[in-house]
Amino acid sequence: MDLLVVGAGLFGLTVAQRCASELGLRVTVIDSRPHPGGNAWSTRDPETGIEVHRYGSHLFHTSNDRVWTYVNRFTGFTDYRHRVYTVHRGEVFPMPINLGTINQFFRSAYGPDQARALIAAQAADEAQATGGTPDESLESRAVSLIGRPLYEAFIRGYTAKQWQTDPAHLPASVISRLPVRYNYDNRYFGDTHQGLPVDGYGAWIERMIDHPSIDLRLDTDFFADGPFGRAATRGRVPIVYTGPIDRYFDHAAGRLGWRTLDFETTIEPVGDFQGCSVMNYADADVPYTRIHEFRHLHPERQHSPDATVVAREYSRFATDSDEPYYPVNSPADRDRLLRYRALATAEPQVKFGGRLGTYRYLDMHMAIASAFTLVDTELVPKFYPGRRMIAVNRNGGT
Ligand code: FAD
Ligand code: UDP
Repeated sequence: MDLLVVGAGLFGLTVAQRCASELGLRVTVIDSRPHPGGNAWSTRDPETGIEVHRYGSHLFHTSNDRVWTYVNRFTGFTDYRHRVYTVHRGEVFPMPINLGTINQFFRSAYGPDQARALIAAQAADEAQATGGTPDESLESRAVSLIGRPLYEAFIRGYTAKQWQTDPAHLPASVISRLPVRYNYDNRYFGDTHQGLPVDGYGAWIERMIDHPSIDLRLDTDFFADGPFGRAATRGRVPIVYTGPIDRYFDHAAGRLGWRTLDFETTIEPVGDFQGCSVMNYADADVPYTRIHEFRHLHPERQHSPDATVVAREYSRFATDSDEPYYPVNSPADRDRLLRYRALATAEPQVKFGGRLGTYRYLDMHMAIASAFTLVDTELVPKFYPGRRMIAVNRNGGT
C-alpha cells in the first residue's frame, strides 16, 4: 500500500481514483459503512425498484468544467432539473423565493421592478425599526434580502428546525446558497451543468473504484484495531483522512458541533404521493423539514403505479454515536477548528480533506474539486517531485 484513504465518500474516492490511475499508486480505501460513496450513495429499492438516495436527495450541479468532464468519465447524466416546493400554512409555494412565490404570498401581480421595490421598502422599514446597521447573522442577511414577511414565512421556522439554533445566532453564509430571483425561474440551482447519474450514484461510484490498484475495505473503522487502523498505520504510510477532524485528535481541542439527520422512510401504496421530489415544510409546528419522494428524481424511468418510496427528514444535533453530516460552525466551533488545523499542520504524513475532515459545507462538486487540488498540489509533488500534474482533457481522457 502506497497510500491509505480513510473514507470512501466522493472526496476520498476522487483522490484514490486519480492516484491509482494517474500516479500508478496502490491505494487502500477504508470506510466504516457497508457501502462506498459516503452520503451520496443510492441504490434501487428491492421492493419497488425505485432509486433511493439513502441520505436524502442528492442533486449533482456544477459550473466547474473540469469536474464535469471528470465525472462524465464514470457516468452519463440525465437532464433532471431540481425544483422544490414549500408548504406554509396549508399552501404550497415555489422555492427558492422567486416572483411566483412573491406574487402568490402577497396575492399580487407585480412585475420584477415592482416586486424589487416592495422588498426594498420592507427591508428599509426594518432597518429603520431596528435603528442600527445589520449584523452578520442569517436573520439580518435574510431580512435585508427578502424583507420580514417572507423571512418569517419561509426561512425562520425552517431554519430553526434544521439548525435548532435561533437564526439570529447563525452565520449569514448558511443561506447564501439560496438565491432570490425576480423572475419565474424556479430551478433550485443555477449551475451550468446539472443532472442525475443515469444508473444512480451506486453505479457511478462502483465504476470509479473499479481499478486493479484500488483495494476497497468496507465495514472497516480507522479507530478500530486492525491492519488499517490508526494505531497500525499512523506514521508508517501516507494517509488521506476524510472523517471528522475532531475525532482524529480524540477531541483534544473539544467537540465540534455537527448536525445529523434521521430519515423516516416508508413505502406508500400510491403512484404519486406529493407530485415532486422534495417538498419543504416551512412551519415550525411540523416536526420534519422536508419530504423526499425518490421516484420523481428519475422521471425517465418506468415506475410501479401503486408504490412510491417517501422519506421524512428530521434534523438534530449529532451525539458521539451519530453520523455527523453538517458542520454547525458556531463561533466556538470556529475557534476549536483553528486549534485542530494547528494540530493537523504538525502531522504532515496525514492530509485532511472532505466535508468532515475540513469541517466545511462541501457539495459533491466542491468535494471533487478540492480532491483535485490535494492531488495536484500535495500528492503529486510528494510522490513524484518535479513531475507536472496530468490534466483531464476535454474528452475526459488523460
Ligand atoms: P462523505 O460523503 O461524508 O464521506 C465521508 C466518508 O468517510 C463516509 O463514507 C464515512 O463513513 C467515512 N468515515 C468517517 N469516519 C470514518 C472512520 N473512522 N473510518 C472509516 N471511514 C470513516 N452534495 C451535493 O452536491 N448535492 C446535494 O444535493 C447534496 N445533498 C446532501 C444532503 C445531505 C443530507 C448531506 C449530508 C450531504 C449532501 N451533499 C450534497 C454533500 C455530499 O453528500 C458529500 O457531503 C460531499 O460530496 C462531500 O463528500 P466527502 O467525501 O467529503 O464526505
Ligand atoms: N432554507 C430555508 N427554507 C427553505 C430552504 C432552505 O430557510 O425552504 C435555508 C435553511 O437555513 C437552509 C439553507 O437555506 O439551511 C440552505 O438550504 P439548502 O436547501 O441548500 O440546504 P441543504 O439541502 O444543504 O440542507
